[in-house]
Amino acid sequence: MFVPKQVMATSHRTPATVNALPDDGRVSFVGAGPGHPELITLRGLERLRSAEIIVHDALVPTSILDLASSRAIRIPVPRDATTGDPGEATGRLLVELALAGRRVVRLKGGDPGVFGRLTEETAPLRAAGIPVEIVPGVTAVLAAAAAADVPLTSRSAASNLTIVTGHEADDKVSPVDLEALAALPGTLAVYMGVARAGRWAAALVAAGRSSATPVTIVSRCSWPDQQIATATLGTLAQAFAEHQWPSPAVVIVGDVTAPRPSADTRALAGQRILLTRPAGQADELAAAVATLGGEAVHLPVVRIAPPGDWAALDDAIGGAATFDWIVFASVNGVRSFAARLRAAGRDARLLGTARLAAIGAATAAALGEAGLACDLVPATASSEGMVAALLPTLRAGRVLLIRADRGRDVMRRELEQAGHEVVEVAAYATRPVATLDGDDEARLDAAPIDWVTITSGAIAEGAVRLFGERMRRWRIASLSPVTSGVLTALGFPPDCEALDSSAAGLVEAILRWQEARRTDHASPAELA
Ligand code: SAH
Repeated sequence: MFVPKQVMATSHRTPATVNALPDDGRVSFVGAGPGHPELITLRGLERLRSAEIIVHDALVPTSILDLASSRAIRIPVPRDATTGDPGEATGRLLVELALAGRRVVRLKGGDPGVFGRLTEETAPLRAAGIPVEIVPGVTAVLAAAAAADVPLTSRSAASNLTIVTGHEADDKVSPVDLEALAALPGTLAVYMGVARAGRWAAALVAAGRSSATPVTIVSRCSWPDQQIATATLGTLAQAFAEHQWPSPAVVIVGDVTAPRPSADTRALAGQRILLTRPAGQADELAAAVATLGGEAVHLPVVRIAPPGDWAALDDAIGGAATFDWIVFASVNGVRSFAARLRAAGRDARLLGTARLAAIGAATAAALGEAGLACDLVPATASSEGMVAALLPTLRAGRVLLIRADRGRDVMRRELEQAGHEVVEVAAYATRPVATLDGDDEARLDAAPIDWVTITSGAIAEGAVRLFGERMRRWRIASLSPVTSGVLTALGFPPDCEALDSSAAGLVEAILRWQEARRTDHASPAELA
């Protein structure tokens, strides 16, 4: 590309603050947002991915740090250093790294410019002539208001929003004037207000704000254990003492937070539904739940691992053309088969005249994604359904079964009994998830679970092992009669069962159960 000399010359005179891509030796202050990795900006994500060094607030969750390159060096800085000036010390560290020519991101919670010590941290950089870039982030109150369904301004209730700290540094030049604030109508967002909630709430009331003014508290906004609660200025201190909402929390004060009747009339609105399938396999169910207004909580109880060794699968793939049918019991089986076929440098031609069968529409769709056409999907998505569909097509046939390392043996037994030759191959292993980590526990306990969805016998066993007696408090939705049988044998009979063994079928079963409940409880007048 032709670049005129003059332009090249001017581009070297970099201004102190720029909005272009960071070059070596430039420091980007990136707002991480409130905590959930989806709430960072695209520009922030780009800077994070290309950073060599990330200097981050200790509170930024690992789920956001993990968006960065795994080669990037992470340096946490404490937010509340007790000695010296934490802002300037961090600024000096940034100068050192930038002068060493490293691509540095300073990752800060929320927006870098809101209670972010931005002035202190950028001062040493500016003094050293190092260019600084600011990438904005979603500040806590914006995320909190969205989560709590609170409009921060409204034509009827508030035409201004004030962001204020509830934790004043003693030596601050301009302390928060709570009297003036009390006189100002509109919405108040109090950051760092947990420790001294009683003090600032009382000061606002003493200065004339009504003690009945509604407040909304959002604790750990967008984190797995987010909590939302309401109180009034008069009851706030007591509410904090009773509930001990964990930090960080932001408090929104003003008439905009007055409770309104929920407008969401979707069938699963307000319900939390636990999804237990392995990672990467719960998307369809999660989407169905979300569409109906429910909250899907995904905690896999089994994980998918490679089989003990690949030899059996590789052999079977090598001899694929010698089979009449290759039967896939699950999406994982298809993926593993297709991946090994590709890894061997082969393609569909290796399968010759073998026909392909799949249990369930999702498995058939996975074949399609792998570029393989499915010849048969039995009407009933079960091993029995598959045997019933295959038998009429076979005379002394050879059948290859691609499946998990454990599970039922029905297909092999019945096909062999009917005189066919069966080769069974484990294309993947399912391993139980042994324990819940702290994050998982927090997500489970953040609010009551309404339903747990169980989609196979192995998952039923994994769920009972992992959740135990907790499951007694939840309603259980089962994917199929076989799954229900395992649940019942474990002492946890399901409350409902899908008619059609699919994500949609499972959600329909939950809706049918609710509908039956509603009709049971309807008054005679309603039914008439
Ligand atoms: N720069 C940050 C604010 C830093 S001050 C921002 O723009 O959001 C720290 C305060 O921010 C906390 O005391 C709390 O009041 C608020 N805060 C930050 N993250 C939060 C979160 N995920 N949920 C609730 N409040 C949060």
